[in-house]
Formats: sequence, structure tokens, C-alpha cells
Amino acid sequence: MAKEDLECSFCGRKKPETNLLIAGLDAHICDKCIEQAHGIVLEESKQSGNAELSSELMLKKPKQIKEFLDEYIIGQEYTKKVMSVAVYNHYKRLLQPASKDDIEIQKSNIIMVGQTGTGKTLMAKTIAKMLNVPLAIVDATVLTEAGYVGEDVESILTRLLQVADYNLEKAEKGIVFIDEIDKIARKSDNPSITRDVSGEGVQQALLKLLEGTTVNVPPKGGRKHPDQKFIEVNTEHILFIAGGAFDGIERMISKRLNMAAIGYKAASQDDVIDTDNLLQYIIPKDLKDFGLIPEIIGRLPVLSYMDPLDAETLRAILTQPKNAIIKQYKKLFEMDDIKFSITDGALDFIVTKAIEYKLGARGLRSLCEEVLTDAMYELPSSKDKKLHVTKEYAEEKLDKSTLKRLKAVS
Ligand code: ADP
Repeated sequence: MAKEDLECSFCGRKKPETNLLIAGLDAHICDKCIEQAHGIVLEESKQSGNAELSSELMLKKPKQIKEFLDEYIIGQEYTKKVMSVAVYNHYKRLLQPASKDDIEIQKSNIIMVGQTGTGKTLMAKTIAKMLNVPLAIVDATVLTEAGYVGEDVESILTRLLQVADYNLEKAEKGIVFIDEIDKIARKSDNPSITRDVSGEGVQQALLKLLEGTTVNVPPKGGRKHPDQKFIEVNTEHILFIAGGAFDGIERMISKRLNMAAIGYKAASQDDVIDTDNLLQYIIPKDLKDFGLIPEIIGRLPVLSYMDPLDAETLRAILTQPKNAIIKQYKKLFEMDDIKFSITDGALDFIVTKAIEYKLGARGLRSLCEEVLTDAMYELPSSKDKKLHVTKEYAEEKLDKSTLKRLKAVS
């Protein structure tokens, strides 16, 4: 066949009508068809990416979500359950086809109240890990009203975009964890005395974001958008999880509970209040009394609390989670062919010290680090391929001055 008689097997164009005709085994394709096919491939992969996300999200029922959380988080049963349902509903809402009736499912943004180091951030991180969606962790204390020194609330979305590597579609299905939400509580009950740039103003600014709106976000250093001034981000499907210690809120809860008790004659056995863990009785009104404005509380409709960590929980945190601290050290030593073991006595000792020095769960890591640093320094270049940590060994490494120093930095 003459060269000019060759034709594209897809569109039938003759070679002279094309810029390029590529030969295959027994077919040809022209430049135009290549371009078109490439477009189809891109479109398909985009759609299948979505489908992947959808099926992944839909596959997990609340019980399965909770089981996943159980692998990483010890205790906190109530929050794990509440969180599983909220996350399930959130993504169900996200995947719902345009509704025929007028029932619009509201966002199930979450607020967690609990002392620092009880696993609030871990909860958000684990959910994001399970769903394979981007997670931005932001600190509410740096936020100020627009126009004041500090960061505008839009910076939250900049952070989310960065985490999502500027993939807008991914970012818009991501999770934002707002830490220390209690720090933007209204300082006084009278909001009109002075302008409260870091309190109520920020709460007001957050409202729209939480509810779902389109925001122009400055990309700040995004490689893919060097010239673009703003990226339009829709927060409609972003799940917001807020967390805070709300120091002193127990007083408000206790006051409310006592008030409620008056007027009832005989308190039944069920009415006995567990004064060691008052947070379990928290209701939205307590957040309002603390200084969150009602509109913010309304947009964080799922309220949960974290239990304080007792010795038993701390002990379990050391060894049980999928990436427990002790498992991590074991792996580190294994890389140098060192067999690492630790006695129950040593673990109990570490837990006792974490409680005694009020270091919490976060302190467990620093305590282990202090106990093991010498060994991690010496053993890799030694012939000794075994490390057995006993209570005595831990005691020797954790003398009083080390503990004092740990307390100072925590
Ligand atoms: P918070 O956000 O409440 O201040 P974090 O989630 O940052 O607390 O917890 C600090 C560290 O303590 C985490 O990295 C985690 O290793 C550990 N931790 C805290 N609570 C738990 C828990 N319930 N289960 C497992 N690990 C925990």
C-alpha cells in the first residue's frame, strides 16, 4: 500500500490529512485520535478515583469504623461510637444523590471536650487515615478576626489545600481538626464592652466555614498555582472536628447538675453522679455557659467527651495500639538485629511516673525515650544483641533530675 493510502484505523483520516500517523501491529492511529483518547483516559481515571473514594466510604458501617478506631485508640468508648456514627452520616450525606424530597441532611460536625493528651487529635488522625482523606490540624489560638494581626479563618483552608497537595477535589472532602476551640470562647458574658478580636469575632468568622460556603482561599506557595491569587474552596463537604480542654467547665456542669437535683425528692440509684468524671454529663448549654456562642454550638451538633486516662489505660496505650510506643521501639531495635524486651514491672513503673509527674499519655513517649536512649546509642555498635529492660533498669535511667526535666518541658 502506498504511504498516502494509509489511514487512521479509528477515524479513517488518510495520512495526508493528519499531522502524524502512528503504526501499530496491524492498525494506525492519528494525532487527533490520540489526543481525544488521552482526554477520555483522564476523564475516566478522574471518575474511577471518585468511585474508589465513594465505595471505600460506603463500605464502612459505623461498627466497622469503630473497630478501626479500636485498633489505634484505647478506651474512649463513647467518643469512638459517637464519632463512628457522625462520620458515617457525614459521608452518607456527601454521597447522596441530588435529593428529590426536601429533606436536607445537616452536617455532622463534631466537638470533643477533654483534657489535653486524652486522644482528641489521635481520634481525628485515625479517622482521616481510615478514610484516606486529607486532614488539616489547626490551632484556634492563632486565629483572629480578618484585618487583625494573626491568621484569618481562611488560613484553615489554605492548610487543608496544602495537605491535599493542592488537589481541590480531595481537599473539599477532607477533615479539619480545630484544636483548642475553647480558647476562642467569649471572655466575658457581656459581649459589647470591648472588641474581642480573638474570641467572639473568630467564632463569628468560623460560622460560615462550618456550615458550608464557598471561600476564596489564598493558596500561599502552592507550586501548581504560582500566579493564582485565590482558589475557590467549597466547605460544604468538609468535616470539621473541634477539640478543647475547656478547663473549669466541670464547675458549670456540677452547678447545673446540683440545680437539677433540687426539686427531685428521692434520687434513685441511677442518679448518683460520678464526680470523678463530670465531663460525661456535658450538654450544649455548658459550652454556651463557657463562652461559645449558640450559633457555633449549633454548627457543631455532635458533642462528645473524653475520659481522663487512668493507670490501666496508660498501661494499655504503651503496648496495645497498632502502633503502640513499645511496638515501635521493638521495631527500631530489630533493624539492628537487637532483641528488645521489657518486663511488666518496668512498664508499670513508667506508668506510675507518668501519673505522678502528671505527664499524661504524651509523657509516656518521653519517659520511654529517657529509659532507652543510652541503649539506643550504645547497642547498634556493640556485639551485645539483647536488651532486657527491668524495673531496676528503668529506675536507674529515670532518676529524679530526669523526671524533673521532663515535667518542665511537658
Ligand atoms: P489531645 O489532642 O487530646 O491533646 P493527643 O491525641 O495529641 O491528645 O494525644 C497525645 C498522644 O497520647 C497521642 O499521640 C497518643 O499516642 C497518646 N494517646 C492519648 N490518648 C490515647 C488513647 N486513648 N489511645 C491511644 N493513645 C493515646
